[in-house]
Amino acid sequence: MTTGTVGTSRDGQRLADHDGGHDAGHDAGHGGPGRAPTVAGVEQVRRLVTEVPGPVSRRLRERRDAVLPTGVGLTLPAFVARAGGSVLVDVDGNQLLDLGAGIAVVNAGHAHPRVVEAVQAQAASFLHTCFMVTPYEAYVAVAERLGELAPVDGPTKTVLLNSGAEAVENAVKVARHATGRDAVVVFDHAYHGRTNLTMAMTAKAMPYKRGFGPFAGEVYRVPMSYPFRDPEGMTGEQAAERAVRSITTQVGADQVACVVIEPVQGEGGFVEPAPGFLPALAAWCRDNGVLFVADEIQTGFGRTGDVFALDHEGVRADLVTVAKGLADGMPLAGVVGRAGLMDAVHPGGLGGTYGGNPVACAAALAAMDVLVDEDLAGRARWVGSVARPVLERAQAEHPSIGEVRGRGAMLALEFVRPGTTEPDAAEAARVAAACHAAGVVVLTCGTYGNVIRLLPPLVITEDLLRDGLDVLVGALGGAA
Ligand SMILES: *Cc1c(COP(=O)(O)O)cnc(C)c1O
Repeated sequence: MTTGTVGTSRDGQRLADHDGGHDAGHDAGHGGPGRAPTVAGVEQVRRLVTEVPGPVSRRLRERRDAVLPTGVGLTLPAFVARAGGSVLVDVDGNQLLDLGAGIAVVNAGHAHPRVVEAVQAQAASFLHTCFMVTPYEAYVAVAERLGELAPVDGPTKTVLLNSGAEAVENAVKVARHATGRDAVVVFDHAYHGRTNLTMAMTAKAMPYKRGFGPFAGEVYRVPMSYPFRDPEGMTGEQAAERAVRSITTQVGADQVACVVIEPVQGEGGFVEPAPGFLPALAAWCRDNGVLFVADEIQTGFGRTGDVFALDHEGVRADLVTVAKGLADGMPLAGVVGRAGLMDAVHPGGLGGTYGGNPVACAAALAAMDVLVDEDLAGRARWVGSVARPVLERAQAEHPSIGEVRGRGAMLALEFVRPGTTEPDAAEAARVAAACHAAGVVVLTCGTYGNVIRLLPPLVITEDLLRDGLDVLVGALGGAA
């Protein structure tokens, strides 16, 4: 589906220089030399025609506030009318640059034509049967494909679900059955969802947990490897020893069903553990009959520069949870695991009415084809190679940036009070608000709320990426 734009468009030309010919656009649509490519009819440029949010969005906001509970969050109150590639078009006609990708969901970009086509074709055939009642091929094909891609030694089996939280819940169900043990080990700064069990597994009280207890039992939290905040020079192996000490003293290895970890933490602040941490932890699990469960819901499908983040150090998991990037915008999640473990559960013990919906499965199959055919992992590495030097230069000039970190197209700035490691959430919020006013969607995260995270669609054009970085750097304050 990529078009012959390399060498004719500015984006294609520059991309070809950088990464050997990846094409930024999907569906032709060049208006001639000097014009940005279009995706799903949306020109890949940021362009404001009103303030953000504009008057039409503001009226919709009033209707929203009248009928929605305050508990439903809102980052940027510009209502979306359509989207393509890395650009959201709002109801006032503003073209916003999306550096959040719907929280790491549209890795192949908004409305990727192959995904849209697959969804339309499936919707025209049938929308639902309930796979547990009368099955269909697409679910099986998604399981086959995930088995090939996931960092789990084969043979594998896969159950499909609707949300990331549901996938995590099901991974724990499988782990308890397969081991006959109860305890679940999670980490500081972890995020695993908002259902009762996954709230217990999530670390941060506000806004995810406070007042929503009592929480599920037998969940134990141990220290994460967090190089920026760990003792200077602590290696990944030492951080793993610290975690294991905490497990053996709090629980006892023979009580633990599974250790559940995000290979790079998402909502908790894009915390990338020190090299050696994950391999050491996985080895300890193997030696102690504990299942190693990788929550790759945010890190999967090319985001970190590998198809899965565990691939970076060649680590293999017993079970992997997937969602977000799996279906490029359709709700679909899954647990991929070693067949012998997945089969420990009795017939009927796993499932749900909508899990593996056929339209979502069709989208996932197309999205996984795009992942491979357009080398989205390579695209993520290219995004990192463009963005990191810009962010590191900004760090040298702005002492409010304590650390630039992340891998591939999962990048973060951690804000601190200059000269300290004391978190500065107000500065992160101020910078994010300035980006939003300029029409650039960025998200914040972190246990201390002091991290700005960048999760652009992996198909972003170089012009848009550089434009977004310019806006972000321009919003930084307190230059040295
Ligand atoms: C988003 C996320 C979840 C929860 O997924 P939902 O689809 O929102 O339920 C779980 N784990 C990680 C690492 C996530 O990023």
